[in-house]
Amino acid sequence: MPGDVARVKGRDGRAGVALSAPVHDKVIDGAAIAARVLADVRIEVERLKAGGVTPGLSVVLVGDDAASAVYVRSKESTSRELGMAGETIRLAASVTQSELLSTVDRLNANEAVHGILVQMPLPRQIDADLVLRRIRPDKDVDGFHPVNVGKLVIGERDGFVPCTPAGIQYMLEACGVKTSGADCVVVGRSNIVGKPMAALMVQQGSGADATVTICHSRTRDLAAHTRRADILIVAAGRPQMITADMVKRGAVVIDVGMNRIPDATKKSGSRLVGDVDFDRVREVASLITPVPGGVGKMTIAMLMRNTARAAARASS
Ligand code: NAP
Repeated sequence: MPGDVARVKGRDGRAGVALSAPVHDKVIDGAAIAARVLADVRIEVERLKAGGVTPGLSVVLVGDDAASAVYVRSKESTSRELGMAGETIRLAASVTQSELLSTVDRLNANEAVHGILVQMPLPRQIDADLVLRRIRPDKDVDGFHPVNVGKLVIGERDGFVPCTPAGIQYMLEACGVKTSGADCVVVGRSNIVGKPMAALMVQQGSGADATVTICHSRTRDLAAHTRRADILIVAAGRPQMITADMVKRGAVVIDVGMNRIPDATKKSGSRLVGDVDFDRVREVASLITPVPGGVGKMTIAMLMRNTARAAARASS
């Protein structure tokens, strides 16, 4: 039952679960945890509005990539539900680099805009790194600007942490997963998930202190690494690549992957799966996130939290 509170005991005594958390038969309820985050953000938005500040999130969407349009709509509707202000600026796929940079400059200068997000991927003619560097770090609620990346790596807490890794760390804490001293294996080294995830997990302090290994497509004998993991976080974009024999009994498995695979039984002809073979790995893991209904919900919730934080800082 969604929203139910279950008590789940850790199995190996290291990456075990002791606190109450939205977990049903080992499966972490990302929607329920995200709802908790959003409830807190709503209170913060109300507090800020009472003080005359309405948090504002501006999203820039370039072109007509179907998946991007879905993500952006979801960000739009969530921010609206929370009472934030905001707009989505839709630009043609043929937009030039300078037009896009001018849009970012305009948002940087607008005091009513506290958070700016440029939806990736961008068309070929655009240098995405240049665009991300143009966003003011204090409005970079995606946490991709090198200033925020640097702050994350050196452990300065006043930057913005990328939303997916931040959501995963929140989720682990909410489930009472003991990370200190745990062997954490991250599969994937992208700048948006794998690297910031590893940087978070290795930090000193609460919700971290793990021993981290990062794996990627050149890793020799991936399974030898994943089998050691107390906490296995997979962000490879390879449908169901993590099989049960690659997972240690009792491990906590976080599946970031979102892959569409053909499925003739579905009206749409396809279905969404993660990077983990959920049905079989569930038999081995002590905790596991589903796809959908796991990490994805947390990503948007953390974006909203970052935006509220940006507004609070701008107004203090
Ligand atoms: P990405 O930029 O394509 O990076 C994938 C990473 O996985 C790369 O580092 C790649 O290694 C590694 N990899 C690929 N195949 C591998 C293999 N067979 N063995 C070991 N490593 C392998 O992807 P991303 O942006 O990080 O996203 C990863 C997945 O998460 C995608 O399915 C994406 O849709 C999903 N995602 C979900 C959310 C969410 O909110 N739920 C958010 C972001 C992303 P190399 O570096 O060597 O190429």
